[in-house]
Amino acid sequence: FLKGKTAVISGSTSGIGLAYAKALAAEGAAVVLNGFGEADAIEANRAALEQASGAAALYDPADMTRPDQIEAMIERAAKETGSVDIVINNAGIQHVAPITEFPVEKWDAIIAINLSSAWHMMRAAIPHMRQKGWGRIITTASAHSLVASPNKSAYVAAKHGVVGITKTVALEVATDGITANCISPGYVWTPLVENQIPDTMKARGLSREQVIEDVLLKAQPTKEFVTIEQVAALALFLCRDEAKSITGANLSVDGGWTAQ
Ligand code: NAD
Repeated sequence: FLKGKTAVISGSTSGIGLAYAKALAAEGAAVVLNGFGEADAIEANRAALEQASGAAALYDPADMTRPDQIEAMIERAAKETGSVDIVINNAGIQHVAPITEFPVEKWDAIIAINLSSAWHMMRAAIPHMRQKGWGRIITTASAHSLVASPNKSAYVAAKHGVVGITKTVALEVATDGITANCISPGYVWTPLVENQIPDTMKARGLSREQVIEDVLLKAQPTKEFVTIEQVAALALFLCRDEAKSITGANLSVDGGWTAQ
């Protein structure tokens, strides 16, 4: 149902972003992959997406800390595929440390990648969506857009912030056929989660098993990690015409975490 549409997905070389790309391409969308990684692996993913969609799949290495590169990626997508219909703000990084020990450059990087890049993506993409009278803006927020955990001050601030941008933009584009929503996963098993285990072990003096059981899954009543496919399935639904009245929302996929 997405034939003829183009989706630009930041941070889609891995984890949740790659799952979004696969789900949208399976419905015929042209996709723009973005993010870092090994060139051969990125090219293999790009080629597989093109194969699956029967439409174009581009890779753009725009660094989400760089507004000029973000804008250039959106303009390139419009030029090379004919439109920018779906934008998914998904790139994100994490750093775990108490505020008094939190490196200032990590604060700046998390705010740039997890918060400001979403603003720059939306700003550049909305004129293209307005031209078509249709658009979908989806942002991967987090359970940490609703609640906090210690030692994640930058991440929690950025995730609360993207919900604010999303609500505001949803109001600004409400009569243009464009929706803007956040998806807020709980813990999803991806490299982002795996990579924070050593820091959490150090910050809290715990073993790997204790971090998984007592820190990560402690918050999640289902005691299961969310899967990347479950998150992508919700994004796909938000792209359907049936979802046109869902806008300005922050939808949880968190195994009951934020119900507590
Ligand atoms: P991941 O590490 O697998 O993927 C992150 C992606 O962002 C990668 O493609 C990476 O290359 C890209 N990226 C990082 N810095 C970038 C930059 N400067 N410019 C462009 N791309 C950059 O992580 P993930 O778990 O799939 O995370 C995706 C999103 O989901 C993030 O916004 C994250 O905060 C959010 N999220 C993850 C979880 C979880 O438990 N994994 C839970 C809630 C929210």
